[in-house]
Amino acid sequence: MKDIYFLMTVDGDLRNGSISQRERAIRALLKLFDSEGMAGKVTWYINENDFEWTKNHPEVVLSIVERRDALGIHDHFDTQNIIDFGEALRFCKESYSKVMKFLKHRDKDKDYPQGILAHRSGSLYQKATFYKARKEIGYRILSDVWPEKKSEGRVVLDTSYSSLMTHKKVFDGTMTDNTHIPLEVRPWRHDVDNWLDYKSTTGFFLQIPVTCMTIYLDFERLRRVYRSHQEGMLSSLTWDIQPYEIQESEYGGLMQEKLEVVQDSIRRVKDEFDPTFINIYDFAKILPTTS
Ligand SMILES: [Zn+2]
Repeated sequence: MKDIYFLMTVDGDLRNGSISQRERAIRALLKLFDSEGMAGKVTWYINENDFEWTKNHPEVVLSIVERRDALGIHDHFDTQNIIDFGEALRFCKESYSKVMKFLKHRDKDKDYPQGILAHRSGSLYQKATFYKARKEIGYRILSDVWPEKKSEGRVVLDTSYSSLMTHKKVFDGTMTDNTHIPLEVRPWRHDVDNWLDYKSTTGFFLQIPVTCMTIYLDFERLRRVYRSHQEGMLSSLTWDIQPYEIQESEYGGLMQEKLEVVQDSIRRVKDEFDPTFINIYDFAKILPTTS
C-alpha cells in the first residue's frame, strides 16, 4: 500500500445552466471517475442550501452513497452574507437536516450512523464562529485550509456564476489568510479557535488541507508536497473541483474539452505520483487517532 494519498473532492456548486444540464455535468464526472477506477474513492461536498441537491438531483445523491464515495456538505456563508454564529448555525442546520432527512427517507441513513461528518466551507471561508457552528452540528472532518494562499472578503449576491465572478467586495480585510501555513503540511487536529495552528495534534476537528483548486491542477504544488514526503509518513494531495467548471457559463452546456482536462490530469497524477486514491472518511480512519 502506497502512503501517498490522493483525495479527489468535488464542491457541489452548480452555478451554470438548467437543472438537467447540471445533472448532466455531475453524471459526466461520475462516469469519468468510474472509468478511472475511482468509484468509492471520491468525496462530494454537496451544496444543499444553494442548489438543493436532494430535491433536484436525488438519484445522484443516492448513487454517491451507493458507490461508497464520501458524502459531505458544502455551505457558502458568503452567498448569504452570514457573519455571526446564530445565522451560521441556522444555515448549517438547514442543509444538514435536509440531507439527513433525505438519507432516512431513502433508507440510507444507516450508512451514516454518526451523521454526516465531513464539511467544507464555501470559498474556504474560515472564521471562529463558523467552526463553532459546525462543532455544534457535529462535523468532525473539515477541509478548508488552502496553504500559502489567501482570498479577499466578498459577498456573492446570488448563486450564479457571473455574480461569483463579479462579486461585490464588502469586507475591508481578508476572508481567508493561509499564507503562513506551509504547503507541505500534514493533516492536523484543532478546535474552534486554532485552525491555523497546524502543529496542533488534538481537538474536535480533523483538518485535511486543500492542495489545489479548480480543474487546472497545479502540478508544481503537487510536486512540492510529493517531494517532502518521507518514508512512514502519511502524505495527502487534495484536489478541489466544481461541476460548473465543466459547463458553459452562459448556456450551461457540458464542455467536453473541460472534462478532458480533468481526465488528463487524473492520468498525469497516476503517472507521476502513483498515489492511492481515497475518500475523506477512509482517509480519516487511517490517520493517527488522537483527538
Ligand atoms: Zn463552493
